[in-house]
Amino acid sequence: MAILVSGGAGYIGSHTVWELCEAGRDVVVADNLQTGFRASVHPKARFYRLDIRDRGALDVLFQAERIDGVIHFAASSQVGESMSDPLKYYDNNLHGTMVLLQAMVGHGVDKIVFSSTAATYGEPERVPILETDRTQPTNTYGETKLAMEHMMSWVSRAHGLRYVALRYFNACGAHPSGLIGEAHDPETHLIPIILQVPGGRREKLSLFGDDYPTPDGTCIRDYIHVSDLAQAHILALDYLMNGGENNVFNLGNGVGFSNKEVVEAARRVTGHLIPTVIAPRRAGDPARLVASSEKARSVLGWAPRYADLETIIATAWAWHKDHPNGYAK
Ligand code: UDP
Repeated sequence: MAILVSGGAGYIGSHTVWELCEAGRDVVVADNLQTGFRASVHPKARFYRLDIRDRGALDVLFQAERIDGVIHFAASSQVGESMSDPLKYYDNNLHGTMVLLQAMVGHGVDKIVFSSTAATYGEPERVPILETDRTQPTNTYGETKLAMEHMMSWVSRAHGLRYVALRYFNACGAHPSGLIGEAHDPETHLIPIILQVPGGRREKLSLFGDDYPTPDGTCIRDYIHVSDLAQAHILALDYLMNGGENNVFNLGNGVGFSNKEVVEAARRVTGHLIPTVIAPRRAGDPARLVASSEKARSVLGWAPRYADLETIIATAWAWHKDHPNGYAK
């Protein structure tokens, strides 16, 4: 029996496929390569280039492969873009998930683990954030991810499918082998943007706001290594395979770092000065997002292996140094 990974050529998807293949699991990847890279897919995985909104293509895959469970990453994931082009997010994220679930129900596949996000919480009531806290997204991206969670819940009641939603905080870092890593175009995330400065691709970093109600005035985030996220997906799938009920888990290190602290850590790792300028706040940025991941630890037995920010940044730096153009030759 195989595991289907949708979006398995993307950043977190490719790292999860890597861990699954290295653990000897049989893996099938489906990806339309709109933002993913064929070169990031582990050579042992069987690859289907398809769009999950294409029911016919999914039917061919489900008929050709014996799929036991699905790990679902395929989605659009840029907060800013989700505000300027919300319908793209409803189409790709919600409609895409709907077609995938229709195919799963049609082919009797009843277990799914999927990427949700800390953006489902919006401006948090308190930190660290618990899974039971209020969900009130402040952007279309978070809204569509929360709606995906709700869709799973209703489909579960009707058809007996079981799901785990993993709400990631700030995914970062690269596989310790240096073979795969983060490659977005355009890049919007803090750590890869910082590393563009020592990488010679950017002169300085713009810090978006230094007047937040935090000790140094910059936003605080919870950075979690992509390989730790990948491990959590495998544990969540095994949890479902062992009969676990529908569940939602936060995934973070439980420690917050301010944007300025992240720059400091990157200076230590790279030995580069990394000049910064203060720029206006970015719309929709909550001041402080820190996860409580106690539930993932106690129920899934998950424990991040890369809890140290400098170590995380060092893995990202190793990847970016060797691949200044990402997967492009
Ligand atoms: N950020 C920044 N400059 C940049 C990119 C990001 O100051 O060039 C800030 C951003 O405003 C936020 C933090 O870095 O406070 C993390 O942003 P990112 O996009 O990496 O992740 P998010 O928390 O939005 O998911």
